[in-house]
Amino acid sequence: MIVLAINAGSSSLKFTGYRMPEEEVLISGVFQRIGIDNSFYTIKINGEKFEEDVDLPDHKKAVEILLDELIKHKVVNSLDEIEAVGHRVVHGGEKYSDSVVVTEDVKKIIDELSDIAPLHNPANLMGIEVFEKMLPHAKNVAVFDTAFHQTMATDAYLYAVPYEWYTNYGVRKYGFHGTSHKYLSQRLSSILGRDDCKVITCHLGNGGSISAIKDGKCVDTSMGFTPNAGIVMGSRSGDIDVSIIPYVMKKTGENLDEIMNDLNKKSGFLGISGVSSDSRDVEIGINAGNPRCILAQSMYINTIVQYIASYYALLGGCDAICFAGGIGENSINTRKEILEALEVFGIKCDYDANNCRGKEVMISTKDSKIPCYVIPTDEEVMIARDTYNLTVN
Ligand code: ADP
Repeated sequence: MIVLAINAGSSSLKFTGYRMPEEEVLISGVFQRIGIDNSFYTIKINGEKFEEDVDLPDHKKAVEILLDELIKHKVVNSLDEIEAVGHRVVHGGEKYSDSVVVTEDVKKIIDELSDIAPLHNPANLMGIEVFEKMLPHAKNVAVFDTAFHQTMATDAYLYAVPYEWYTNYGVRKYGFHGTSHKYLSQRLSSILGRDDCKVITCHLGNGGSISAIKDGKCVDTSMGFTPNAGIVMGSRSGDIDVSIIPYVMKKTGENLDEIMNDLNKKSGFLGISGVSSDSRDVEIGINAGNPRCILAQSMYINTIVQYIASYYALLGGCDAICFAGGIGENSINTRKEILEALEVFGIKCDYDANNCRGKEVMISTKDSKIPCYVIPTDEEVMIARDTYNLTVN
């Protein structure tokens, strides 16, 4: 069975085509700058990658091209062979603790949740609607970023604010990157050879989050009501004292939207280093002795270590820690600094093993009290698995 895994953003559309249940990747790629000038797409197939400049006025055009490419490259002989399409949907609220086959009711709820995920859910929903039109015979499945975190207990997901904020308006911790944390915890279970384990998964990309997972279920996670909470990120602040907001509004004359933009787009690595939101640029700055790059990295490591340490206590110990995402999979220096800062837990970095990028490997020594791993995450295969499982006859 051929399954497409789709991640539609407001101006991009990523896709991977699988043969299921073999989980064989047949094609993958991304359409970029949809609805903007200079749009283009890249496709990877049979180990080759190519890029095409093309006018992409909307997502429908991108999907039309994608379907043409699938035929052209003989991924399928007829579009009828694509039986199901899985869509990443960022917010599933409290309604969804698992993936679901898309119905009119599901679409209505995704739409209602746009209220708390205005940057993501509308684009995700648009992706679903385009595929409904273009592949009317195929089933669509929604795979929610928040779903995996729905196992958190009330005392983990509530904020200590007036209770009615939760009951009336849904103000609570939802957590994000759930599909990645689930994948990572399943990989760790399989590496450890048992399901009953306590693990800490660190998804460190441009956005970053850390989860405490017991027996495959999320106990706590660092992102909150929105993805701006938790650790320092590329351009997001992570946790701050909320009283800063009215204080800076008064001082600068900025309005609330502008302050929120500062906290989402001008903070984190970018805000502190003044150089870039990209950890590679910050690393270059560090090597050149730029004090603000050194400071940004030090604050980044501190927040990660604080979350890992608190989750160690929360879980009552930890059987394994893993690192994923662009930084977790590639930044040798960041992983080294984190493991060194965790020495108090008996963690020992294996410097040779850690000297790697983008592959699954144990980066702690054999006598480290907690084994630590790099695990390249794979959200797409999780989308394809759920889509297959929910739609196979
Ligand atoms: P997103 O949250 O947008 O999915 P990614 O998971 O792609 O982000 O991660 C992007 C981050 O990964 C950037 O900060 C980038 O600098 C970092 N990164 C990617 N490759 C490397 C590398 N080779 N060395 C260090 N950092 C890297």
